[in-house]
Amino acid sequence: MTNMADNGERLDPDSTSAPMGSSTSGALPVPEGAVRGRLTRNAPLARHVWFKSGGAADWLFEPADTQDLKDFLGALDGRMPVMALGVGSNMIIRDGGVPGVVIKLGKAFGEIEVTGKTTLKAGASAPVSMVARRAGKAGIDGLRFLIGIPGSVGGVTRMNGGCYGRETCDVLTDCDVIMPGGEWATLTNADLEYSYRHSALPEGAVVVEARFEGFPGDPEEIKADMARISATRKESQPIGSMTGGSTFKNPAGHSSWELIDAAGLRGHRHGGAQVSEKHCNFLINTGNATSTEIEGLGELVREKVKANSGIELEWEIKRVGRV
Ligand SMILES: Cc1cc2nc3c(=O)[nH]c(=O)nc-3n(C[C@H](O)[C@H](O)[C@H](O)COP(=O)(O)OP(=O)(O)OC[C@H]3O[C@@H](n4cnc5c(N)ncnc54)[C@H](O)[C@@H]3O)c2cc1C
Repeated sequence: MTNMADNGERLDPDSTSAPMGSSTSGALPVPEGAVRGRLTRNAPLARHVWFKSGGAADWLFEPADTQDLKDFLGALDGRMPVMALGVGSNMIIRDGGVPGVVIKLGKAFGEIEVTGKTTLKAGASAPVSMVARRAGKAGIDGLRFLIGIPGSVGGVTRMNGGCYGRETCDVLTDCDVIMPGGEWATLTNADLEYSYRHSALPEGAVVVEARFEGFPGDPEEIKADMARISATRKESQPIGSMTGGSTFKNPAGHSSWELIDAAGLRGHRHGGAQVSEKHCNFLINTGNATSTEIEGLGELVREKVKANSGIELEWEIKRVGRV
């Protein structure tokens, strides 16, 4: 297994029996032979997230393809929590690990295809920067903002990722998801009830493909603008660091980074976690920070900003798992 955890234990359900246990993490979560993908028990997740911190998933499932994912979710005990993980660029995995099953989509879900003059579709594991490039090359405009977001198609579909005044909801027409019970569903843009960094994607639903529509544009001009966007972000964000992107949503009429700066927190440290010197709304792991330290720093920031400005910051980063 290419991304198998050092102390994780891979189980090929069709060839290996799991020792039975009484806890959720002990017994094999689906009948033996039910799936073709990789199922790993007690799989460390730090390597899968940008912060490079946090505990293990009780189970990590990497489906072979969409049918395999359907079969897996259909066979899974309905009480077991399910969470999709993209590239972990907006995620704190808590140190106690994640209960239930984490679903990580691999290359089989990474295809991007131009489907019309202004339309394209992409698998959920495709990086959205690649979607932006492919669209630009095909003369499809309107998706250039995605060049600056380091997440996956699945991640932006759930998070309504955006920047420079554009959001995923401006370009996504619909998406295919596998529901927690294994049912296939197509959700339209309207079904997703998008708002700022939020969608109504049901808990435990896994996006497998999304379709986008832009408008005609000039490939050379789009390419040049995307190069400019990338350069600007390199200058203004700690993109080479272990970080989780924007920590807090911008409150109406305010920028979170300004509120954090005004509270005197630029560069503030808590254990191995630090408020970025470059961009105050980014927290960074300076080396060996625990997720508890990173989240603790975020809570401290919220407290100080509230005391200084009266404004309560709302987490944008998803924080998951056991403390
Ligand atoms: C340097 C940096 C800059 C960033 N800049 C921006 C920015 O400008 N604008 C912006 O909006 N964000 C930004 N982000 C945050 C992040 O890239 C986005 O939120 C992105 O949408 C997250 O995608 P991901 O694949 O990393 O998702 P993850 O962080 O892995 O997950 C985020 C959420 O999406 C869910 N999810 C992921 N994949 C799926 C799937 N297949 N099906 C269902 N749910 C899924 C997860 O369960 C979780 O709830 C930045 C992050 C970094 C590190």
